Formats: sequence, structure tokens, C-alpha cells
Amino acid sequence: MADQDPDDVIECEGHGRQPSTLVCRHLAESEGDDAAELGFHWSAADGDLVANCDACEAEVGADGFLPDDYVLDNFVLICRLCFMELAADYGVEPAEIEAAEAAAAAKANH
Ligand SMILES: [Zn+2]
Ligand SMILES: [Zn+2]
Repeated sequence: MADQDPDDVIECEGHGRQPSTLVCRHLAESEGDDAAELGFHWSAADGDLVANCDACEAEVGADGFLPDDYVLDNFVLICRLCFMELAADYGVEPAEIEAAEAAAAAKANH
């Protein structure tokens, strides 16, 4: 997998310029009452925040990755703060995410 640019930024309507994160559109579109129904699987591997729902998790192949085509069709970029808010809907604390990011960054800078 090619290195992703850690400086990727996105212009968020609510938060301005922020680092981008990748989430499945099911989660991205679920804000509100139906949030917390879909399941929330997240990772900060390589320092890039990624999250997807239960349905997407079921598409993960034997190699542990989602097929590229699937990601292209089903994932969208949202800003890091939106990611945090989404995670909070699923009971994932920002501190938990920040710790995972710090751990990934420490590994990258090794
Ligand atoms: Zn999904
Ligand atoms: Zn945002």
C-alpha cells in the first residue's frame, strides 16, 4: 500500500480546514437518530483514521482489507473532528482515538 500523505486536509463546512479521515458512507450519512445502530469499527493504523459499519466489516477479505473497488464506491472523506463526533455517538472517546493516533505516529517515526 502506498504511503498516504498525513498532511491531507479537507475543508469541512462545520470545522474549517482539518485533517481528512476515511469513513464508509453508511456511517457518514447516519448522523442523528439512526447513528449507533450500524456498528462502528475504527482504526488508526498508519496514523490515518478509518471507520466503517458492520455491513462493510462483513466485506473485509481474507487478507484483512476491503477490496479497493469497494472502498472507492462506499467510502467518503470527512474531517477529523467530524470523525470524533461520529465516534462519540458509538461510545468511542476522543482520548482513545488520540492515543491510537499517537501510537501509530510513534511507530512511523521509529
Ligand atoms: Zn458501511
Ligand atoms: Zn467536520
